[in-house]
Amino acid sequence: MHTLDKLKAKHPDKIEGWYKDMDGYWVDLKYGWQDSPSSEVHAVHEPTVKEVVEHFKLVCPCDCLYCQTRGEQWLDFDVDTGKTVVMHRQQ
Ligand SMILES: [Zn+2]
Repeated sequence: MHTLDKLKAKHPDKIEGWYKDMDGYWVDLKYGWQDSPSSEVHAVHEPTVKEVVEHFKLVCPCDCLYCQTRGEQWLDFDVDTGKTVVMHRQQ
């Protein structure tokens, strides 16, 4: 079994899934989790499996708008107005 499949089996509450591409390994986190405190980044991304496993120890609860609305809304920075705006998922 792949190490990241084992990690997912160990943390089914936190991990949505994982994949590998030319930039390395990506572990997508479920709503309510971020890759490190105050990052509001919802995936763990590292060049190697070993680093992903190490980085995963920093995963902690997230209560950002994106997590609260389960991906329906999120905050973004509008470069034209210089203000933070609420974005909505296109249906
Ligand atoms: Zn979040």
